[in-house]
Amino acid sequence: MNILVCIKQVPDTTEIKIDPVTNTLIRQGAPSIINTFDAYALELAVRVKEQYSGKVTVISMGPEQAKEALKECLSVGADEAYLISDRIFGGSDTLATSYILSKFINVLEAEHGKYDLILCGKQAIDGDTGQVGPEIAEHLGIPQVTYITDMKLEDNFLLVKRDNDNGFDWIEVEIPALVTVTKTNFEPRYATIRSKMQANKRNIPVLTSNDAALDFAQCGLKGSPTKVKKTYTPVRQKNGVIIKEENSKTAVKKFIIWANDTKVF
Ligand SMILES: Cc1cc2nc3c(=O)[nH]c(=O)nc-3n(C[C@H](O)[C@H](O)[C@H](O)COP(=O)(O)OP(=O)(O)OC[C@H]3O[C@@H](n4cnc5c(N)ncnc54)[C@H](O)[C@@H]3O)c2cc1C
Repeated sequence: MNILVCIKQVPDTTEIKIDPVTNTLIRQGAPSIINTFDAYALELAVRVKEQYSGKVTVISMGPEQAKEALKECLSVGADEAYLISDRIFGGSDTLATSYILSKFINVLEAEHGKYDLILCGKQAIDGDTGQVGPEIAEHLGIPQVTYITDMKLEDNFLLVKRDNDNGFDWIEVEIPALVTVTKTNFEPRYATIRSKMQANKRNIPVLTSNDAALDFAQCGLKGSPTKVKKTYTPVRQKNGVIIKEENSKTAVKKFIIWANDTKVF
């Protein structure tokens, strides 16, 4: 299996600050981690490789510092890593990000053969849209399944376990395919000191806008149709009220009295 995993480096903080002028996230000063769901996606990819043999490549679009995230991926089972980085890509929204990533997937496929399977996280914990994975699949014209927690390879198709509101489904999908991965039942493995040292020695190739046939009108801020008008952190007006009663009937009665008194509705 020729497998590709898309990795986003995200700020390791719950206190996201927004630039009031550009309405984009302020990333400076916050420590960075591999997006949580991408770590699950990578672990799943490495397990598939170990079971059926093959190769796992990771890519990330981001600044130079995203190399750290890619090196961490190499230390936990990825075989190859590429950073996609160029000033022209700065300010890209999800549509531009997925366009750029899909164009570089084409570039890597020309060199290393088609990817049977592309994995993304179900969403990034900073941007949080969950759009990039499905958009890459659309750009590449391959099937996609979202919210995956496990998979098995059958003859010419994949069986993927997909979370739903009531439990899960096993879905057949032809390969090549893209899946987005949610929290799995297993935890991502830890790097060892040895694997970390080996990964640190690796050179991460950087691909720039010169390396792909890009339409620059679809890249960066100019190529981003999303217009963020305003972002703000909602101010909490009041604390909630906890009504603790022995049974739900008396709790509901108390709630109605409280709601009438405070004219909450
Ligand atoms: C107007 C505007 C300007 C912006 N400017 C910037 C900017 O200058 N710099 C910036 O970093 N962000 C910028 N963003 C945010 C950027 O659009 C999103 O972070 C990015 O498109 C991914 O969207 P998301 O975070 O919602 O990812 P999701 O769609 O939630 O991510 C899902 C999955 O897609 C994959 N993925 C997502 N992003 C990447 C990536 N970069 N590389 C590899 N895989 C990825 C991962 O597997 C991830 O788990 C901007 C957004 C807007 C609207």
